[in-house]
Amino acid sequence: MKYFSTRDKNLRLNFKDIFLRGLAPGGGLFLPIEIKKYNDKELEELSKLSYVDLATEIISNFCVPDLSKKNLNSLIKNAYKNFDDSEVVTIKKIGNTNLLELYNGPTLAFKDIAMQVIGNMYDELKVAEKNKVNIVVATSGDTGSAAISSLNERKNINVFILHPYNKISNIQRRIMTTIGSDNIYNIAIKGNFDDCQKIVKDMFEDNEFRKKINMSGVNSINWARIICQIVYYFFTSFKFSRKKLNFSVPTGNFGDVYAGYIAKKMGLSINKLIVATNENDILQRAINSGEYKPSIVKNSLSPSMDIQISSNFERLLFDVVNYDDKKVMSLMKNLSTEGSFQLKEEEINIIKKDFEAVKITDEETLKIIKDFENKENFIIDPHTATAVGASKKIKNENDTIVLGTAHPFKFLETIKKATGKVVEPPKQFSNILDKKEKFDILENNISEIKKYILGKENEN
Ligand SMILES: *Cc1c(COP(=O)(O)O)cnc(C)c1O
Repeated sequence: MKYFSTRDKNLRLNFKDIFLRGLAPGGGLFLPIEIKKYNDKELEELSKLSYVDLATEIISNFCVPDLSKKNLNSLIKNAYKNFDDSEVVTIKKIGNTNLLELYNGPTLAFKDIAMQVIGNMYDELKVAEKNKVNIVVATSGDTGSAAISSLNERKNINVFILHPYNKISNIQRRIMTTIGSDNIYNIAIKGNFDDCQKIVKDMFEDNEFRKKINMSGVNSINWARIICQIVYYFFTSFKFSRKKLNFSVPTGNFGDVYAGYIAKKMGLSINKLIVATNENDILQRAINSGEYKPSIVKNSLSPSMDIQISSNFERLLFDVVNYDDKKVMSLMKNLSTEGSFQLKEEEINIIKKDFEAVKITDEETLKIIKDFENKENFIIDPHTATAVGASKKIKNENDTIVLGTAHPFKFLETIKKATGKVVEPPKQFSNILDKKEKFDILENNISEIKKYILGKENEN
């Protein structure tokens, strides 16, 4: 499979290149030059597979010839061997809600599903065989721990995780800062997630620095993350006999819900993809009014979605403007010079064919968690709560799947506030509050962070 970018259609790179880089030269995002579309008979065959075998079939479309199906199958099997559910994800009916639990992995959020596979891909693609690779990651709270769990103690790999200082939950931070070993560096940036993501993007754009540290990235703009997330849309649809479903997805960087969109392009029958946002509602505004205009990031009860620059939206935009890379470039230029861009009526209508967007406030989030607990005796985390809330607003709950993106333990303060209940830690985290944390606090300043990375990268 060859890849080009949203800002350069003439580019031709293979999977291994785009896997390593994450971000395309010139700031665009990588896309495959074609997307496999399954016919009815093929879908019927796929529906008989186990999660691991299904993942192998779907993901391999995008990795040939760099990863053989056989090797991919064993690395995926290995990635999911310690998940709490042997089928990786769990589908539950709770009251009227169809909940797809995606948090059976080692760090209790859906980020594990892609990240555990990606860690094994680094080994399989032999990228760190000769030279040490330095992976730099921005996290809004859950990507960081998933990356650490997956890349911890891998040979010849360092991981630098940038999280927004004091803007993630206590448990989210502790999972990151207590499980790492010598190759993991946690950096708290005095800024928000958008600042962290911008620093990583700017580092990729600095060719000299990027080459010097042999830099790689695993943020949700990395196409490898998206392809791993496509799988559970297929798996769930198959469990519902391929009935035409809606999926309600708690959304920040637009990675997870965009994976649903790709599943639809691959031939899966999906009705609406519901974009559930918190008070950082840029996507809700963009989808409903066409104006893409980041405002100041608000700290909400669902910190992993406290994002105003929703990077993966650029991939959808590329489709909406009919694969016109120059147009994408000019919209993105507008964004950086004017602070916004405006979509036309017909472009909004294209988006609305597949997506609906709903904003859920913090106040609503608390009430949704409380009501769910009262009625169903089941605790959902604040991110999942936005998707439950959005699905109730859209109605038609029977035909809607809500993506459960994190375990409530990660947000126990909020759960306590909403329900008065204390969430017990899953057993691997029973003593997390007693463990020693390791992280450094740095200014929101790219040269300071580069200096820090250069100072550490040769330490071990
Ligand atoms: C990352 C995250 C999201 C948002 O996912 P995107 O792919 O960034 O839209 C939602 N919920 C949780 C718990 C997350 O960690």
